[in-house]
Amino acid sequence: MTDDRQRFSRSTDAVHAGVPRERPHHTLGPGIAQTATYTFRDTADLSAYMEGRDPDPDREEYGRYGNPTVRELERRVAALDGTDDAAAFSSGMAAISTVALALLGPGDHVVLFRDCYRRTRQLVTVVLERLGIEHTLVGPAAVRELPAAMRSSTRLVIAESPTNPYLYCTDLEELVRVVRGAGRVRTLVDATFATPINLRPASYDVDFVVHSATKYLAGHNDVMGGIVCGPTHLISLVRELRGVLGGVLDPHAAFLIARGLKTLGVRVERQNGTAARVASWLEAHPAVARVYYPGLASHPSHDTATRQMLGHGGVVSFELRGGRAHAAATVDGCRLAQIAPSLGGVETLIEQPATMSYFELSDAELDQIGISASLVRLSVGIEDADDVIADLAQALSAAGG
Ligand code: PLP
Repeated sequence: MTDDRQRFSRSTDAVHAGVPRERPHHTLGPGIAQTATYTFRDTADLSAYMEGRDPDPDREEYGRYGNPTVRELERRVAALDGTDDAAAFSSGMAAISTVALALLGPGDHVVLFRDCYRRTRQLVTVVLERLGIEHTLVGPAAVRELPAAMRSSTRLVIAESPTNPYLYCTDLEELVRVVRGAGRVRTLVDATFATPINLRPASYDVDFVVHSATKYLAGHNDVMGGIVCGPTHLISLVRELRGVLGGVLDPHAAFLIARGLKTLGVRVERQNGTAARVASWLEAHPAVARVYYPGLASHPSHDTATRQMLGHGGVVSFELRGGRAHAAATVDGCRLAQIAPSLGGVETLIEQPATMSYFELSDAELDQIGISASLVRLSVGIEDADDVIADLAQALSAAGG
């Protein structure tokens, strides 16, 4: 067995960390344990398992409680993120909601950074609220607002870094310092946009690190999943509730994510490079009003991002001078980039949040929640950077920019 802590560079660990060096039948890759349940030789065998006397610590009973293909993926992501353990889910939202429900009950309070993924915001502001769990929202990356936002009943602070779509980065060292001072409060950082290649929140003592594996970890826009990494005692708590709520990852999906993970390093390094080039190119384009990319000195989170990340990620957001229609025409003019939600895959995807995630809101309502109608979000794939830039150039030109 490889040991389950980081030993090499992050790219190498994405290939090897947590992967057994010997497998049944001497296969190099993992099998897919496509099973819903597990068998027992006889009642004595079953009793030994139930009483914790089974010599195989990885033995499973039923598919909702565990699966070896999923378990290997969990170990690999935990090793890459530098945590004791991880639990995998059927989607990123299943991971986040299960953590929240494992930790919180009526009367508890959550602090959430306002500019997080909108379904996470909906979970906190609507679903948890209905269960008697209160919340306070703080501004983008505004750790300085935390002390005033926290109450004696605060049990969880949820941050995302970088955020979607403006790519604000939270100073994690400062976040943990402030939260630790407040006692019994856990921190959860959604690092989906960063990936463990660019950022390892656990190295700052963040309690829970969450990834929508649907994005960069799997990397091919063909499977959904979520992973939460953290210390053994907290992940056990989450895993136990997963067995009740049932948001388990299918073994075939686990296989696909595990396969994607092998190339995470090369994909993310290329995406970092392409996004940085695209961002600089866009910043110099006369039709573009503003570019949001943490690698640019003009981004408010540039210093924080540069201090705590190895690369600045593969997503670039930008606002067009000509408003909503100009942004729509630019998106429509792309021939390489495809219009789709999601990000982090090998294909370059583009979207205008005003016509996708926030289609029901007017420009004025968008302004209120801090999203510009002229905003475009680009998730670069692994295509040649020159081709991605040429595509944007012709789209901007066709849109009258
Ligand atoms: N977290 C972030 C930052 C996301 O962007 C998303 C989805 O877009 C999620 C979580 C939810 O992940 P999933 O779609 O896998 O449920």
